[in-house]
Amino acid sequence: MSGPITPETCVFCKIVRGEIPARKAYEDELVLAFHDIRPVAPVHVLVIPKRHIASLADCGLDDQAVLGRMLAVAPRIARDLGAKDGFRTIINSGRDGRQEVYHLHMHVIGGRDTGPMILRT
Ligand code: AMP
Repeated sequence: MSGPITPETCVFCKIVRGEIPARKAYEDELVLAFHDIRPVAPVHVLVIPKRHIASLADCGLDDQAVLGRMLAVAPRIARDLGAKDGFRTIINSGRDGRQEVYHLHMHVIGGRDTGPMILRT
């Protein structure tokens, strides 16, 4: 079945509702963080809003609280998971941003040198 992604069909909404499993790293009333299923580093967590927002490309001033919370919890999550020497945050947005899952998420990646920011072509 294909079609537009709705909160009913969204895989990350299903994680929020507990309908599919995830290894949780942090949770509060606005956001949930869980380990990426295909980690690229020893620490690789996704921080998501509990409310369905498809993409950062859809956000505006009304979303400041949840966007701020996503950033504000990242240092604590990284530290708690042992990323002592820093970490990288990434939000892929839309086609050119190579977003794969259309529920806003911020990658928090660390536990090793994450390399150059982006390949220069
Ligand atoms: P992006 O390219 O930014 O949209 O990345 C989507 C990320 O979601 C990828 O790193 C996937 O490995 C991850 N992912 C997809 N499904 C799941 C899942 N069920 N549990 C945890 N991570 C997932």
